[in-house]
Amino acid sequence: MLFHRSDNVYFKRDDKLDEARAFGADYIGFIGAAKTEREACECAIEILKDASEYEYGKKYESGDMVYINNRNKSLVAIKFGTRPLNDGLRIIASHVDSPRLDTKPNPVYEENGLAFIKSHYYGGIKKYQWTAIPLAMHGTVVLKDGTAVKITIGEGDDDKCFCATDILPHLAYKIQGDRKESEVIKGEELNILSASIPEKDTEYKDPVKFTLMKYLWENYGVTEDDLITSEIEFVPAFKPRYLGIDGSMIGAYGQDDRVCAYAAIRAFAATENPEYTTMVVLADREEIGSEGNTGLNSNLISNIVADMCRANGGYPDLVLTRTKCFSSDVSAAFDPTFAGAYEVRNASKINYGVSIEKYTGARGKSGTSEATAEYYAWVRSVLDGNHVPWQADELGKIDEGGGGTVAKFIAALGADVIDIGVPVLSMHAPFEVTGLYDVFALYEADKAFIQAE
Ligand code: MN
Ligand code: MN
Repeated sequence: MLFHRSDNVYFKRDDKLDEARAFGADYIGFIGAAKTEREACECAIEILKDASEYEYGKKYESGDMVYINNRNKSLVAIKFGTRPLNDGLRIIASHVDSPRLDTKPNPVYEENGLAFIKSHYYGGIKKYQWTAIPLAMHGTVVLKDGTAVKITIGEGDDDKCFCATDILPHLAYKIQGDRKESEVIKGEELNILSASIPEKDTEYKDPVKFTLMKYLWENYGVTEDDLITSEIEFVPAFKPRYLGIDGSMIGAYGQDDRVCAYAAIRAFAATENPEYTTMVVLADREEIGSEGNTGLNSNLISNIVADMCRANGGYPDLVLTRTKCFSSDVSAAFDPTFAGAYEVRNASKINYGVSIEKYTGARGKSGTSEATAEYYAWVRSVLDGNHVPWQADELGKIDEGGGGTVAKFIAALGADVIDIGVPVLSMHAPFEVTGLYDVFALYEADKAFIQAE
């Protein structure tokens, strides 16, 4: 064909529609249950129920499936292939952290008869989107004796929830009228409303705060000191929903990037006896630059590859140089309402298949790796050979802004990397939108990638 064509998948993919819908239903179950990086790792381990924990220094046979649980916040799953490690790996890397409201070190206070929890947002959010919506508390509190207490409040239908308040429009004119977008709501205004009944019989000077603390103590055995050292995330309490009258889209919190994590882990689970040793990486901290010991701007992957080589034979640098990687992250779907931010010829569309980015970054391609022509051509032939619909895009207009993924950190190890994912509308909002068929197409792309020659 002389011209490139990317079409709406519903014009041609009737044969796989039932499979796509079934996959979408499974995905809705996952995305509703995995609202934090920890929960996503738990769900992934459940999907990989036949996998055992990786043992450093152990020799593995082809077909063996293992995982490394990195501090319960990131996960590396490995399936050993029939080929030697020196032939390179297949890596699919996505991230399982999403923008949210964390709590501050000293979070709980009372003011004018109301109890609040002070938050510190994580990741790039439009702060005004996080007020006046129901929020759920997902926390891991570790007591001094090491006991980990899981807190989930706000997810059940009849469960209590929380919210950060906003000023009514009638009174907003002066206080918010002249603020720019990033300050319509300020970081210090994302205070989460948590109780309003004062406790009558207490010697503490904050009787409403007492009501909140008493609840946490009686239900979870948690004190204020325990809260200081804990990890508590407030996330939208929305349930994932089919979107549109045709049910063709999925609306849910945290699809960036747990949608790609889900496709990767399902494709990994579905592939038995791969030729190439295959690794699925569910990374943490991507939304803040991949920093830290659970992010990919670390030695996590290179250390694991080094250990695999020690026990199974191989040269780590050679293995990584010959490795092919999908950096699997979402892309910005074209939004006709805000068309000015996109360059329409290079924007991905909902339901047009997986989106591929040769590079991400900003302006003159800063802050990104770029796939070579050779590697991109290989990826294209794998997708075309397996009838996976795909589209090539960039993240918006050149000078409009930009963003990055984990791709550059894996490219820095020497591997060939390309960005592939699904287009998302309202990215980083409490309710993000994906195309149901695109989610399934990514699963098919991942399977084809793992199995390709
Ligand atoms: Mn992402
Ligand atoms: Mn993101």
